[in-house]
Amino acid sequence: MKNTSIWLNNKDFSCQKLNQDMEVDVLIVGGGIAGLSTLFELKDSNLKTILVEKNLCGHGVTSRSTAKVTFLQNQIVNILKNSSQNASLYLASQIDAIKRIKEIIVKHHIDCDFKEVSSYLFTNKKENVGKIEDIYQFLNSNQISVEKTKLKELDNILASKVDHTYIFHPLKYICYLKNNMKNRIYENSKVDKIDKIDGFYFTTVNQHIIKSKFIVLATHYPYFLMPFFLPLKSHVETSFIGAKEVENTHEISAINIDKPCESIRYYQDKNKNYVIYLYQSLATCNVGNIKEKFDALNYNKDFQYLWSNKDVITNDYLPYIGSVDQDGTFLVATGFNTWGMTNGCLSGMVLADLILKKKNPYIELFSLNRSINLNQVLRFPIDACCNIKAFLVSTKNNVNNRQVIYKKIDGEKVAIYKDEDGEHIVLNKCPHMKCGLVFNPVEKTWDCLCHGSRFTIDGDCIEGPSNFDIRFKY
Ligand SMILES: Cc1cc2nc3c(=O)[nH]c(=O)nc-3n(C[C@H](O)[C@H](O)[C@H](O)COP(=O)(O)OP(=O)(O)OC[C@H]3O[C@@H](n4cnc5c(N)ncnc54)[C@H](O)[C@@H]3O)c2cc1C
Repeated sequence: MKNTSIWLNNKDFSCQKLNQDMEVDVLIVGGGIAGLSTLFELKDSNLKTILVEKNLCGHGVTSRSTAKVTFLQNQIVNILKNSSQNASLYLASQIDAIKRIKEIIVKHHIDCDFKEVSSYLFTNKKENVGKIEDIYQFLNSNQISVEKTKLKELDNILASKVDHTYIFHPLKYICYLKNNMKNRIYENSKVDKIDKIDGFYFTTVNQHIIKSKFIVLATHYPYFLMPFFLPLKSHVETSFIGAKEVENTHEISAINIDKPCESIRYYQDKNKNYVIYLYQSLATCNVGNIKEKFDALNYNKDFQYLWSNKDVITNDYLPYIGSVDQDGTFLVATGFNTWGMTNGCLSGMVLADLILKKKNPYIELFSLNRSINLNQVLRFPIDACCNIKAFLVSTKNNVNNRQVIYKKIDGEKVAIYKDEDGEHIVLNKCPHMKCGLVFNPVEKTWDCLCHGSRFTIDGDCIEGPSNFDIRFKY
C-alpha cells in the first residue's frame, strides 16, 4: 500500500530556485492550480509576472484532489439555500471555468487524461431526496439538461445526472503549465515576509527581495493575510481518499449530499484501471483519531493508495477571489470549498481581469468584501468551540506508544516518531496557534487538528496555515 496520492506517481522536474533580488510587476505566491492559472492568464500581458513556490508546483492540495472538473457540486445545495441568484451566477462561473480548462487542454494538446464523464449528485437518505429534487429544478431553470436517475455503482435512492463534465490528472495538467512557463517560475523558493513600502511590495524569498506592484497570494490558506480574519469566515475540512485497481472504468463522477460524504470517479493509467473513492469529510478539528478514519475508508476495500486532503470551506460556500486592499494590488484566491479545479482556474481568470482592469462577471460574487448573513456569521462560534476542543485535546493527547513518544527535552515539548531509520524528533507545537500535534500513522506526517497544518516526520511544513517548520535542533 502506498501512503500518497495516486497522482504523485507522475514524474516531475524542478524549476530554478530564486537566488537574486528582482523587480517585477506581479508576484504570484504559490504554484498550485490557482497560482499557475493566474500566471497563465497573465503571461501574454505586458506585465512582468513571476511565480514563487516553496516546494514543487502542484504538490500541495492540488496533488491530493480527486480532480473532477464539474459544475454539479455538493456545495451548490448550500449556496442555493442562501440565495438562488448567487447559485445561478456560481453555476455560470463553474461552466465558464470548465470551458476554459477544456480550451487550454485542447489548444495546447495537453496530455492529462482529460475525459468527458457524466456527473451525479446523489443521496441515499430519504430526508435528502427533496434537496436532490431542488437541484434538479434549479438546473432545469438554468437551462441545464439534467436527468433524475439512480447510480448503480453506489447505494443511493435518487441522483441528478448531467453531462459535459470531465475528470483529469491534475499533476499532468499542472506539469504542462509549469513547463510552458518555466522561465517565470521559481521553485524551492519560500516567501517568509511581505512588506508594503511607498505603494510597492517587498517580499522576502530565500533571503532575497522581490519588489512588485501587485502580489497574488495563492498559497491555499492565505497565511500572510492577517487583517482579513479568514478564520471568522471559514473552517478547514479534511477528507480521506483511497484508490485501487479495478477491471473496468466507468464514465462517471459522483458525489453525495449526505453525511458521511462519499465521492467516486475512475482513472485509467496506461493499461491499468483504478477507482478513486472518498469517504468522510469532516471539520479538521473534529477528525479525532486519524487511523480510525482511514480504517473506515479502507474497510473491506484494500486500497493500494491511501491519502487525506483538506480544503478551506467558507461560511457562504463561495470562494474568496479578489483584492484585499483599496488600491487592488494585494490579491488572494482561497476558500474553494473542495472544488478548486474549476475555482483555481477561475481565480486565474478573475485575478488577471482585476489586475488588467478588465470587466469580469464574477468579481462581486467572489469579492473578499462581500457581506455574509447572520446564519453564516453564527457558524463562527461553532468553529471556535471546535478549535478550542481540538486545542485542549491536542495538549492532552500525549499518549505514548511504541512508535510515538511525547516528552520534554531541554524544557521544549517534543514529539518523537520511531521507525527503522531511528528517531524523528519535532517540536510538539504548531507554529500557527501553538496547538499540539498528532501523528498521522498512515501518511507518516505530524498533523495539527486545530487548523490543519501538516508537517513531515522530520518537521518540514507541508501545508499551512503554518508557514514555519517544527524542526527540533539539539
Ligand atoms: C478531499 C478533496 C478532494 C478534492 N477533489 C476535488 C475535485 O474533485 N475537483 C475539484 O475541483 N476540486 C477538488 N478539491 C479541491 C482542490 O483540490 C483545491 O481546492 C485546490 O487544489 C486548491 O488549489 P490551490 O492552488 O489553492 O492550493 P495548493 O495546490 O495547495 O497550492 C498552494 C501552493 O502554495 C505553496 N505555498 C504555500 N506557502 C508558500 C510560501 N510561503 N511561499 C511559497 N509558496 C507557498 C504551497 O507549497 C502550494 O504548492 C478537493 C479537495 C479535497 C480536500
